[in-house]
Amino acid sequence: MTLDGKITLITGGSRGIGRAIALAFARHGAHVAIVYARNAEAAGAVVRDIEQLGREAVAIQADVRDFAQCKRAFQEVLDRWQRLDVLVNNAGIIRDKLFLQMDEADWRDVIETNLIGAFNFSRLAAEVMLKQRSGRIINVSSVAGAYGGKGQVNYAASKGGLNAFTRALAAELAPRSITVNAIAPGLIETEMSEAVRNLLGNEIRKIVPMRRAGKPEEVAELAVFLASPAADYITGQVFTIDGGLSLGGIR
Ligand code: NAP
Repeated sequence: MTLDGKITLITGGSRGIGRAIALAFARHGAHVAIVYARNAEAAGAVVRDIEQLGREAVAIQADVRDFAQCKRAFQEVLDRWQRLDVLVNNAGIIRDKLFLQMDEADWRDVIETNLIGAFNFSRLAAEVMLKQRSGRIINVSSVAGAYGGKGQVNYAASKGGLNAFTRALAAELAPRSITVNAIAPGLIETEMSEAVRNLLGNEIRKIVPMRRAGKPEEVAELAVFLASPAADYITGQVFTIDGGLSLGGIR
């Protein structure tokens, strides 16, 4: 199996894309720690699903915005497994609003969760990975990071920042065989995109060349690839997975 015995940590692993990555990693042989914010029940269900696959799993409550909480969660992972092979910075939120309706809290919450959250766990992971002289960091970004979109100034800025963070950190960690890459999904079927998908309805068939939203499991397969030995020489890249959404062609 491609991730046999690897120790992995996925933020926002209780639901949506993070949950799918956690289960895919386990199916490929990894042990998995998931970090979640509030939804203990969903997180517990993911742990049980992973254990049924014969892998070890733990769910840890921590707010990615808070470095002290991240540090405590990270230490729990180290106490249990003494190493970390793969970090997936996936936890994220949206607070979509037109710019003049967006207040400072909407801006701060999104930047703190999506960008500062990724800094917090990467900072902790890099210290361990540098000593190991190996590791993978995978950031879950968005097509919004490159293309923006109305009502998403805060979200687009956080994901654009995450793309730049990915490239800069990749250059710094490459000499120690640590890779840093990002995944930029388009419209994926999760709770986060539910309102947008409901609003779009059948229009999805017009704006996405593949005529459908993506599935969390499809994003998870890309994460498995980036975490696997097949991606040893790939670093500093942002991989779009959007069914052609960002192509912007006439359809
Ligand atoms: P989701 O279904 O809303 O799940 C979000 C996850 O993040 C949950 O596990 C949640 O934990 C966790 N989380 C949120 N705030 C947190 C915090 N402060 N501290 C710790 N954990 C926190 O979202 P999703 O659609 O799977 O999105 C996952 C990632 O993909 C995000 O970074 C998002 O920006 C990106 N993305 C999604 C789409 C899409 O169409 N869905 C498209 C492009 C990019 P709880 O369960 O405890 O609340």
